[in-house]
Amino acid sequence: MREEINAYNNVLELIGNTPLIKLNRVTENIEGNFYAKVEAFNPGHSTKDRIALYIINEAERRGILKPGDTIIETTSGNTGFSLAMVSIIKGYDCILAVSSKSSKDKIDMLRTMGAKVYVCPANVSADDKRSYYSVAKRLHEETKGSIYINQYFNDLNIDAHYNTTGPEIWEQTKGQITHLVACSGTGGTISGTARFLKEKNPNIRILGVDAYGSVLKKYHETKEFDSEEIYPYRIEGLGKNLIPTATDFDMIDKFIKVSDEESAHTAREISRKEGLFVGYTSGAAMQAVKQFAEEGEFTKDSNIVVIFPDHGSRYMSKIYSDEWMGEQGFFDSVNIEEAQKIEI
Ligand code: PMP
Repeated sequence: MREEINAYNNVLELIGNTPLIKLNRVTENIEGNFYAKVEAFNPGHSTKDRIALYIINEAERRGILKPGDTIIETTSGNTGFSLAMVSIIKGYDCILAVSSKSSKDKIDMLRTMGAKVYVCPANVSADDKRSYYSVAKRLHEETKGSIYINQYFNDLNIDAHYNTTGPEIWEQTKGQITHLVACSGTGGTISGTARFLKEKNPNIRILGVDAYGSVLKKYHETKEFDSEEIYPYRIEGLGKNLIPTATDFDMIDKFIKVSDEESAHTAREISRKEGLFVGYTSGAAMQAVKQFAEEGEFTKDSNIVVIFPDHGSRYMSKIYSDEWMGEQGFFDSVNIEEAQKIEI
């Protein structure tokens, strides 16, 4: 009798159950106990693996998808990578309509993962027939047996986190979590995780992170869409210029805005001080923690979980490039001797 080999059946079995890791040095001068939910441990290196797998599984369960069908989405970011990965294992075609602003590296990576990538002009409005929204919609209409993931307007995005991220954090903290700090893009992560946690304990504070240049914080406070809030910014995946229905604003107690510059420096600080090589929005989430602490959100007994959405490797030519940081003017306010001491 041969012993059973200890192996996973495929890469998808590794999605979820990411570790909670105590933050020790980046939080040195802040009251409270801080734990990072490190989503880079997903096989696709981001939290988006969860929604890709969950939405596709759900479509299969409802009989909407069958082998050989096509998955369509508008993204060059993490969601695109995760959908391509899930499509490979489950035998679907994956079509991604991306903006011409996307880096060549990202497009090459998606094509390597078997996706068919349509590069659409960035400088046209969403309703222009050449925009990536219109192209994805048209491809969906023209492709028999296709589903359009539409993550900003898909409730299953929230459900994915309600069923996975929320219960994991509750279990890992043994119910002792007092605060959740999470970035909001589509809003799926914060809304789904919060919905689960608030059902368990309505006193848990849900703290959202938004970007300067995005409308989410203002909308949360006024319920009005203020286009004056919108201007270009650098952080990818955080904030939005529209109101996603995948955000349940009632679940969020408070939003804070973070800047491109401080978030970039804080991401580098996390790598340097914790040995965790994280993405730009992890820096944004940690920057938000610092700002919330200044507002007196935490006490020494608080147990704060901060979601770190993805891995640093996707940002080598951005926040982890000194040239890029210099071009953005992000070293201008840094003491040059301090900067030299920073070994990256
Ligand atoms: N960080 C990164 C890097 C992302 O790609 C996203 C998704 N847009 C987020 C944070 C925000 O997550 P969510 O869409 O669930 O709000």
